[in-house]
Amino acid sequence: MKVIDHLKNTQEPKISFELIPPKRGGDIRSLLAVIDDIVKYNPPFIDITSHSAEVVYEETNHGIQKKVKRKRPGTLGICALIQNKYNIDAVPHILTHGFTREETEDFLIELSYLGIENVLAIRGDDNGYQKPVPEGKSVNKYAVDLVKQIAGMNNGKYLEENLLDAKPSGFCVGVSGYPEKHFEAPNLLTDIRHVKDKVDAGADYVVTQMFFDNNTYFKYVEMCRKEGIKVPIIPGLKILTNKTHLINIPKNFYINLPSSLVDEVLAAKPEQVLDIGVEWAANQVLDLINNNVPSVHFYIMQNSSPVIKLMNRLKEMKVVAA
Ligand SMILES: Cc1cc2nc3c(=O)[nH]c(=O)nc-3n(C[C@H](O)[C@H](O)[C@H](O)COP(=O)(O)OP(=O)(O)OC[C@H]3O[C@@H](n4cnc5c(N)ncnc54)[C@H](O)[C@@H]3O)c2cc1C
Repeated sequence: MKVIDHLKNTQEPKISFELIPPKRGGDIRSLLAVIDDIVKYNPPFIDITSHSAEVVYEETNHGIQKKVKRKRPGTLGICALIQNKYNIDAVPHILTHGFTREETEDFLIELSYLGIENVLAIRGDDNGYQKPVPEGKSVNKYAVDLVKQIAGMNNGKYLEENLLDAKPSGFCVGVSGYPEKHFEAPNLLTDIRHVKDKVDAGADYVVTQMFFDNNTYFKYVEMCRKEGIKVPIIPGLKILTNKTHLINIPKNFYINLPSSLVDEVLAAKPEQVLDIGVEWAANQVLDLINNNVPSVHFYIMQNSSPVIKLMNRLKEMKVVAA
């Protein structure tokens, strides 16, 4: 089922999750254990992130060597399992950065074969490696260009003209939004106008970057609506689980942490921080649901224990069914 249909049919709050593939050569079994844990909560869909190739330096017998690697391959395989073994809608992320439009088309065709109907179209970050574009191939620059490519395929327009059996695809397309502005954007309004471009190009819904103060989200949605963005805007949340998050979350995601949360974490013993983070996230969910937000998306990476704690707390609070 498409993400937008999940949102339309919802009678009770829907909680979806986002996972990150294991590192190259890492153990898929630990990720499968995480999926086993989270499917118990009937997520409407599960996102799997995607990662482009980057430069890594490795110490070898011949000294330090520079290599280009996709440190986290596996998005397609994991999505195939989620969709066809767990029977939950998988949402693979697709990047412009590091992939040609031709590779993207192939990837989308494979997704169609696997019965996957949803994708999240993302630009990706400049990670220091620009893959050379082979002769005769082309690239998308911004996420909006990727949305246009997918919308084209949904209308039967493939890069390879005269393709045999070229049927229109039927992807439901999500895109990102940043309640505290994307770090490259000159201001929030300009950034929102770029989100509007993605919606006008064919995006069906927006998922936000994580935030820890719901007022940021409510204000963002209000600004988006004023700019004519009518599609659902799914709030993205993360559970703060340790003291290092006070530094890493703002550094990596360019967002603010509210002072009351920071003060509570600073005053706590390290082993108390998970409980503080879970309580904070549970109250965020409760407040969002009370404000008629039907669906919440949790960034959980590869660790299910904080989310299990959260779901139990949400049951106690009667936010989700017991
Ligand atoms: C929900 C979500 C999921 C994510 N998943 C992944 C993932 O799987 N893998 C990964 O590597 N990263 C992921 N990211 C991080 C993301 O790749 C980075 O934040 C990246 O820097 C921006 O991607 P985007 O799709 O938001 O870019 P875009 O929407 O292309 O915007 C990027 C910047 O360019 C500006 N802009 C857009 N269009 C134009 C234009 N035409 N002219 C000038 N400026 C323009 C925007 O305002 C913004 O500042 C995710 C982020 C979110 C919020």
